[in-house]
Amino acid sequence: MYTVTLSGETLGYVKEKSELKNKINEYIRDREGTIVLKEIAVMPEYKLELISRNDVTQEKHVLETIEDTAVITYRTYGITVNGEVKAEVDTEIEAQDVISNLQQGLPNEVKLELGFIEVYKNEQTLNSKDTAFTSLNEIKIAKVAEYEAEQERLKKEAEKAAAEEAARKAEEEAKKAASKGKLASASSGSGNVNGLNIVNPLRATPRITSRFGEKGSRRYTHTGLDLAISQGTPIYPIADGVVIFSGSNGSYGNMIKIDHGDGIQSWYAHCSALLVSEGTKVTKDTNIAKVGSTGNSTGPHLHLEIRVNGTAVNPQNYLY
Ligand SMILES: [Zn+2]
Repeated sequence: MYTVTLSGETLGYVKEKSELKNKINEYIRDREGTIVLKEIAVMPEYKLELISRNDVTQEKHVLETIEDTAVITYRTYGITVNGEVKAEVDTEIEAQDVISNLQQGLPNEVKLELGFIEVYKNEQTLNSKDTAFTSLNEIKIAKVAEYEAEQERLKKEAEKAAAEEAARKAEEEAKKAASKGKLASASSGSGNVNGLNIVNPLRATPRITSRFGEKGSRRYTHTGLDLAISQGTPIYPIADGVVIFSGSNGSYGNMIKIDHGDGIQSWYAHCSALLVSEGTKVTKDTNIAKVGSTGNSTGPHLHLEIRVNGTAVNPQNYLY
């Protein structure tokens, strides 16, 4: 009999050493499934000896012990998503199959690069094509949802920007319309006022400091619109007309009143200089006065008052 030893340790006894060697070779050559390599690092040694009959039946145990020392290499196919292995299958065909299934219905814009690489390991893993597809499909669904949410967000952002732009334009249009507005278009008094086009009395943009109808600390409700702007800024009439007052007038300070006909008057108060006198015909381009702070005023501003048949109306129905 041959005593079989492995690294000095006795494994058992065999009748024929060639038979064991053949079995070991057979074991190594037998590669099924994902196994690509079996290696036995240390081969057994044999020694011819006389052995008692009872010890002879251990060939199977010897072979199993040797097989246990084998290092087995398994190859699987790792399916990659954007370069990272996210699932494994046993064969290349399965990998290609899973990938082509995943690519179905995948929008071009969704960044989901699918591929596969060979993965070598010394432990066996249980891989199933269905499991791989399911977990990869979850990634796909999440990516598609992410893409769709982003598209939705961009769409909303664009809509919001468009709405803001439209609102801005509408406001601009409204301002334009108001500055060309007709007194008759906004009911304000007698109703017999027709088609007087009016324009802003200041060519620069003022700051509105008090609106028509405000009471504040005043004894009376505000009958005009206060437009703060630097001292000396030229004032123009809101429309053509005739100067019916040019002088100092109590808390109004230096002021000009213009009659536009049809019961419509415009008043300009707190002026620092009056440039036209009573009876003068003016156009909307005549510089009639300069902004000041005369009368009951705390700083340079134009108090603009519009009157229709003697009643003050809100200038902001038409201007600013
Ligand atoms: Zn005022």
